[in-house]
Amino acid sequence: MLTKLKSISLGNWILIGMILGLIVGLILNFYVTNPYIKNIVLMDNVFYLGGNLFIKLMKMLVVPLVFFSIVVGVASISDVRTIGSIGGTTILIYLITTAIAVTIALMLGIYLQPGAGLQMTGLAEASNVTVNQTMPDTILGMIPDNPFSSLASGDMLPVIIFGLLIGIILAKLREETETFNKIFTEGNRIMMEMTSIVMKFAPIGVFCLMAKTFGGLGIEGIMPLAKYFVCVLIGLAIQAFLVYPTLLVIFTRLNPINFFKRFIPVMFFAFSSSTSNATIPLNLDKLSEMGVSRDVSSFTIPLGATINMDGTAIMQGVAVMFAAQAYGIDLGTSALLTVIFTAVMASIGTAGVPSVGLVTLTMVFNSVGLPIQAIGVIFGIDHLLDMFRTAVNVTGDAICTIIVSFRNKAIDLDIYNGKKQPKKEIHIM
Ligand code: ASP
Repeated sequence: MLTKLKSISLGNWILIGMILGLIVGLILNFYVTNPYIKNIVLMDNVFYLGGNLFIKLMKMLVVPLVFFSIVVGVASISDVRTIGSIGGTTILIYLITTAIAVTIALMLGIYLQPGAGLQMTGLAEASNVTVNQTMPDTILGMIPDNPFSSLASGDMLPVIIFGLLIGIILAKLREETETFNKIFTEGNRIMMEMTSIVMKFAPIGVFCLMAKTFGGLGIEGIMPLAKYFVCVLIGLAIQAFLVYPTLLVIFTRLNPINFFKRFIPVMFFAFSSSTSNATIPLNLDKLSEMGVSRDVSSFTIPLGATINMDGTAIMQGVAVMFAAQAYGIDLGTSALLTVIFTAVMASIGTAGVPSVGLVTLTMVFNSVGLPIQAIGVIFGIDHLLDMFRTAVNVTGDAICTIIVSFRNKAIDLDIYNGKKQPKKEIHIM
């Protein structure tokens, strides 16, 4: 029995934790009436502590892991042009997939009419979320004022840029900076080991997060907005299970089923935690298991967690159509193009943390003059949608990473196809 339990992989344990958490949460919600046991003991203490402890541990890993692995990854690519081409292709694919995502969402919104017949007046309560971000500010924000304070506050884009520069310089100076090379390599090794230790707690963490979410979630909140909810889910499903596999096949001819079989635990973790940022360590780990070189993933995954949010863009596209229909506002072609552009821009420069998509949604609404109050209406069910869209966000990052790795011969196809076990790191020259 014990050996049988031991042979269950970590990914399957995460799945078991998630399903058990869901069941326990629903039982709590429907059958446990004692508020002391339900709310005080379980929800606010046991599950809150268990879930957040795990998220905090993951967050603790993110900055040092990203920093060390970017430096080491970039330093091991000796050709600066290769770095430039990887960066360029990655950003381009990220932007294109996000544009595809919003377009799908807008089309679904036009076709399924999620906001038609809804009486906005009365339903709407003011939402206090606002954000202002211009394109030059976004670009300037990527350069750290002080790299140490960016590291300390976990500002991902400046950390990525700074790590990239150090990596390039280490690659250039080689012998002269041998000591630093060694320090970063060993630092990276330490962080990878810490990641695999923390990851062992993932099933318990995921269990607690799910139990807490579903224990407190009533189905009643969803009903008035069911059409909007379903519309977003359809968009997310199309992106995850149609667009991504198609891109994978077109650009790499790799089998998408092999990808999803191994990637599911990452989606589950993103789903339970609602943050792509905290999912970075697990995402890196799984891609290594699929044969992807860290030289590429160490750069593309943290970048994707910050600038690539296809799931979020889908929610924003549907939300735009929902609000326009509910308020009887007619959006023309140029307004729709503005939405696509703004939603793509909105995903850049904001970190992948819970509910950030709702904050940047104000930017999208402002761009076409939609009333911000409508955001207050969808606020109530956003937490649940955030879970689904974060799972899609991290899938987009991983698919793009595989495409970029494939183009740069940084993926071991035998490992990807399950013919060989992942062992040592593959480095591109
Ligand atoms: N929670 C999402 C993420 O971390 C962002 C969002 O859509 O709110 O990717």
